[in-house]
Amino acid sequence: MVALKAWSKKRTLVALRVCATAATGVLLWLYAPTDGLSAPLVAVWVLYLATTIGYAFLPRHFYARRGFDLAFVLIELSLLGTLFLVYPLPGSWIFYAFFLLAVLLAALARRLVWSVSLGAAVAAAHVLANAGTLTEDPGVLILQVSLLLTTSGIVGFLTEGLDREEQTSALLDNALEVSTLLAGTLEAGTVYDRLTEFVARVLRADRVSVILADVDRRSARVVSAVDRGTPRHDVTIDLADYPEIQTALDDREPVVISRPGTNPRMSGVRRALPARALSSSILVVPIIEEDAPRGVLFVRLEETRRDFSEQEIKLCRILAAVAGQALQRAEEYAEVAEAARRDPLTGLFNVRAFHRALGEEIERTERTGSAFSLLMIDIDYLKRVNDRFGHLAGDRVLQQVARVLADQVRGIDTVARYGGEEFAVLLPETANERALVVAERLRSRVAASGHEELLDPVTISIGVATCPDDAVTPSDLLHKADVALYASKFNGRNRSTRFGSPGDEGWAAPPVDEAPAMGDDSAVRSVREALSGVAENRNLMRHLDVIAALANVMRARDPGAIEALRDVSTITELFLAHLPLPERGRWTIHIACLLRDVGKLSISDEVLNKKDYLTREEYEIVRRHPLVGARIVEPLKGLDEAVPLIRHHHERWDGKGYPDGLAGNAIPYGARIVSLVDAFYAMIRGRPYADRARGLRYACEEIRRNSGTQFDPDLAQRFLDVVDANRDIIATLVDDADADQEGPVEAPEPRALRSAPPVEPVR
Ligand code: GH3
Ligand code: MG
Ligand code: MG
Repeated sequence: MVALKAWSKKRTLVALRVCATAATGVLLWLYAPTDGLSAPLVAVWVLYLATTIGYAFLPRHFYARRGFDLAFVLIELSLLGTLFLVYPLPGSWIFYAFFLLAVLLAALARRLVWSVSLGAAVAAAHVLANAGTLTEDPGVLILQVSLLLTTSGIVGFLTEGLDREEQTSALLDNALEVSTLLAGTLEAGTVYDRLTEFVARVLRADRVSVILADVDRRSARVVSAVDRGTPRHDVTIDLADYPEIQTALDDREPVVISRPGTNPRMSGVRRALPARALSSSILVVPIIEEDAPRGVLFVRLEETRRDFSEQEIKLCRILAAVAGQALQRAEEYAEVAEAARRDPLTGLFNVRAFHRALGEEIERTERTGSAFSLLMIDIDYLKRVNDRFGHLAGDRVLQQVARVLADQVRGIDTVARYGGEEFAVLLPETANERALVVAERLRSRVAASGHEELLDPVTISIGVATCPDDAVTPSDLLHKADVALYASKFNGRNRSTRFGSPGDEGWAAPPVDEAPAMGDDSAVRSVREALSGVAENRNLMRHLDVIAALANVMRARDPGAIEALRDVSTITELFLAHLPLPERGRWTIHIACLLRDVGKLSISDEVLNKKDYLTREEYEIVRRHPLVGARIVEPLKGLDEAVPLIRHHHERWDGKGYPDGLAGNAIPYGARIVSLVDAFYAMIRGRPYADRARGLRYACEEIRRNSGTQFDPDLAQRFLDVVDANRDIIATLVDDADADQEGPVEAPEPRALRSAPPVEPVR
């Protein structure tokens, strides 16, 4: 670009010089002064010729150098001055001085036409003042005049070029500035505003708008506008009134209209034009996005008789192109940002967006004190739907529930998929009673919405908690809503419960108009009752069905199975409370303790209840129960972590246990806990095959004795400490209190193989 400019400058200047040198040479030759060609005069011309040759050979890049223009002009003025010096005519110096003044003015005006006009005026005055000489010595006078004109032309050319360069540079700077700004903008509204504000400022335009056309191109929306310095937004226009915009959109080329009052393109709409627009200049540049015209950049100059320069039009084209790309980027970003907040299956907000909204609500409550409520919602028995009808059917249920929830709430409410088949709804400015009404409405609408492919209606259970009444932190509020939700599940599902509401165990009573919900059978009820001590543990409660179903089967074998469940649960809870375990580990171990012996379902009554010694085969069958138990629990969703604990609950610390003979820390920590609870419970309870329970003291002694061989010594000690600290509670679980009388501890009566006694006390 620079090289090209330097070349064009050199060409022009050298061409001018060659012409001037040739012309003056010819003039001097033909019209030599009457007193002959003096040596100084010839010397000046030779100097002129020499400099012309010098310019022709001067490398191109010199022309682009800073200071070249000034040096060039000074050389021209000096040569001209020398000519006046060697051949002075009357008043020459005055004209020379005037000429210098004219050159100075032209340089300031930076216009070729001004420079040449002023030079010509001085030259004309010079000719007039020396009219007498013209007949005598025309050559020198013409020489002087032509050099005056050439010099003024050169000055004009150079200053105008300089001016153009500066303007271009300023425009480029501006374009760079706004392009950088636009490129760094990821929000469409900001792109529009920056564009209009910038164009209005740089072009000193009276009105600049960004107008986006609708798909059918009938109407358009002014998304940002600066009208005489005042910003405006969101005005809808009828494109029929704007033929210039339509043309720009159709042709995808800028449209320039000077004075719309007389422009034929505007004839149809002239009457509608405001008076100030009649003599304005209008520029409409299409904004192309992804190869399609999206809208236009509309610029109007109302300054009379000012048209858009080529550069201004180019600048607007550049900006419109940059804006088109920035818009595309902003839209893509908005799409990605929106996708990042949405759950793809249901289209609801995802858990991340929900947490953000929850944080904002809590902040608002802190600021204004207004209450808001949270609904935690869980679809009932979705697993069954998946199992019976497939996951796609389950997905459709999720989608339909999501649709019903989204349709039933206000615009200010937030419905999110919290995870799996759980939803969370935020109800701003909603107190607890009102939230329960909303919850009930959601619940009944979901229950009423049909699912043709399913046999049972889909229902949801809801828990309601309110900030600040129930909790003031996000985690606490979620926990409270969760507790209420699981109370709904606990009480038979398809219901809404407020946290801390009165009623059964402080939880909601079932709605009277509802039929008993699925799964609320007596097994669930009795297990629920048996486990009421840990009823607030939602993780445990969510597996209530499984525990209840298995307990039901075990009850068929052992009428005390449910009671046993309760007692084991109590012992486990006491023990776990004293162990530093994460919540998840805690309930996994708890469940493993409850289900540790489900494998015994595979052992026949005969063997299980045999009072006599077992044969080797029978013993092998008994030893298989951890494996069978693990296999029973394995397919149950959410219980996978309990599987190894069930499998290894008969391993021994010294490696002599079964089924895998693991030793020490290789035995899962939870399995070592289950092993202790299992052994302890077996000893304090009577067993079909044992004559009677052995009592608390015996059990504790046994555990101490086998610490480090059968049991993890550290855990055994902790367990004994817990038993010691909770002797009152534990005593109520002991089957045979008599066995706990003071006195020597009876020797254990292991039930074992006749030939090879088992390596551990028999349960
Ligand atoms: P309830 O909540 O009433 O106790 O029973 P449930 O069967 O709905 O609950 P549970 O928590 O035991 O199991 C949740 C099930 O939800 C497990 C899984 O099959 C199903 N689920 C979770 N997310 C999706 C999903 O995105 N699509 C489908 N199809 N099923 C899902
Ligand atoms: Mg669930
Ligand atoms: Mg569920």
